[in-house]
Amino acid sequence: MPKKRTKGRAQNGLTGKQVETLRMQLVNRLQKLEEEAANEVPVMLGPHSDLADAADCHTQFHLAKSLRSRRQDEIKLITAALQRIAERTYGVCCGADHNLDSEECTGLIEFQRLEAYPMAITCEHCIREERQAAKAAAAARSSRVVPGLA
Ligand SMILES: [Zn+2]
Repeated sequence: MPKKRTKGRAQNGLTGKQVETLRMQLVNRLQKLEEEAANEVPVMLGPHSDLADAADCHTQFHLAKSLRSRRQDEIKLITAALQRIAERTYGVCCGADHNLDSEECTGLIEFQRLEAYPMAITCEHCIREERQAAKAAAAARSSRVVPGLA
């Protein structure tokens, strides 16, 4: 069912022009990522001449793999953001702590924040909590020792 177009300020606090600017950013980035994916040269795990060669090859393989999964993650985030734009829920904060701490959270994501990171799903207030959690997780990850590679 076609919805009536609302002019000016949308319900998510962003103007139609702002949403369009962000949408273009997302579309351009998505195109770039898809091009990258299409042009990617696969890294083969082949027969190795020696152990050093094998180690190097495996490093490359895992680098390529992590790069690819990061790219896929980003594509997913961009697709989801474009979906939210289509559903007119874009720019609305999805912070997990909304109900716990609704006093500070307006429920809207600031335009400046979206401009810097158009896939954002949380406002400045909620991202602070998220960042702290991510930092803690990253610290836990980096302190983990990979056995057998020394
Ligand atoms: Zn929020």
